[in-house]
Amino acid sequence: MAEKRDYYEVLGVDRTASEEEIKKAYRQLARQYHPDVTKEDPQVAEERFKEISEAYEVLMDKQKRDLYDKYGHAGVNSQFQGGGFNWTDFTHQGDIRDIFGDMGFGGGSIFDMFFGGGRSRGPHQGQSLRYDLEITLEEAAEGVKKELTLPLTVKCEACGGTGSKSRREEVCPQCGGKGQVQRVERRGYSQFISLTACPRCRGSGKDIRDPCPECDGGWTRKRQKISLDIPKGVDSGMRLRVAGAGEPSPDGGPPGDLYVVVTVRDHDIFQRDGADLYLTQEISFPEAALGATIEVPTLDGKKAELVIPPGTQPGEVQRLKGLGMPKMDGYGRGDLYVRLKLVVPKRLTSEQKELLRKFEGGDGSKKRIFSRNRS
Ligand SMILES: [Zn+2]
Ligand SMILES: [Zn+2]
Repeated sequence: MAEKRDYYEVLGVDRTASEEEIKKAYRQLARQYHPDVTKEDPQVAEERFKEISEAYEVLMDKQKRDLYDKYGHAGVNSQFQGGGFNWTDFTHQGDIRDIFGDMGFGGGSIFDMFFGGGRSRGPHQGQSLRYDLEITLEEAAEGVKKELTLPLTVKCEACGGTGSKSRREEVCPQCGGKGQVQRVERRGYSQFISLTACPRCRGSGKDIRDPCPECDGGWTRKRQKISLDIPKGVDSGMRLRVAGAGEPSPDGGPPGDLYVVVTVRDHDIFQRDGADLYLTQEISFPEAALGATIEVPTLDGKKAELVIPPGTQPGEVQRLKGLGMPKMDGYGRGDLYVRLKLVVPKRLTSEQKELLRKFEGGDGSKKRIFSRNRS
């Protein structure tokens, strides 16, 4: 899995940067990397431009920035429609127009390539896939390595991925092997030139006369094992992206991604709220009244000591610091909250009953009559 860079690092700003500072950093980088004005390699520039725009989108939105500060990339990925940032998630088109409007690019054509919607810019990324994975609360606390067996689309072995039985690849006569054809379109006073996948070879650039019987154009489905590291602290609904493990591109572009959507199973004893855990523990009347030190279970299967102060009331909640779930940002753990449930005994010896009657009548303020029969 490709490591995603920290958004603050991408924009070169401090974690405490103000909106103004973030805006300034983005403007500067956008001028450097916009694919139509850049001096860098276009492919690199386009990736960088998308990267800085994603960082900008998150850090300029208070809610998304909070999520990112707390949980990192895993916290904000689900905020994007496809489980990861795409240009359709970008809400600051106006800012880009502001940046380039004074450079003589006011006509709109360069923006259309990102925001125009629908027009092809050469090879498309393959479809993304979703995989639902259930893990236990213990696994979420420790982090876990999972082996998934998935029907992935892979290169056909029979034809070496050529799609041709005899492995003879000839160049598509319509596009000359480029896989793309140019299309000119007029809209009002503007003329747009766009590239679309070649209709004859569907973008492969190849002309295949003897198709391989084992596959479709060199691709075939095969059950594959992939191993996935689930980070500790993961919560239900979080998505993990496995870059390139989705469907192949229909026209020679990069394959799609695989999104693993995690569900953490309910636990018999512990309930979870973010990084905190909750537990209900029964205590007796003498323990509540006199105070006691009791043992409570912890998620790692061990026990922790809990001091119940004298005079504890039913339903009171005690906190055990740091015994909750690890936090997604790697800094520390949440807490374990213990709800104390007072258990009233169903059977008492006659000696116990007498003691309780004495206890209740002791201060003379209670004028109730206690039952003496039915023993
Ligand atoms: Zn084949
Ligand atoms: Zn072609």
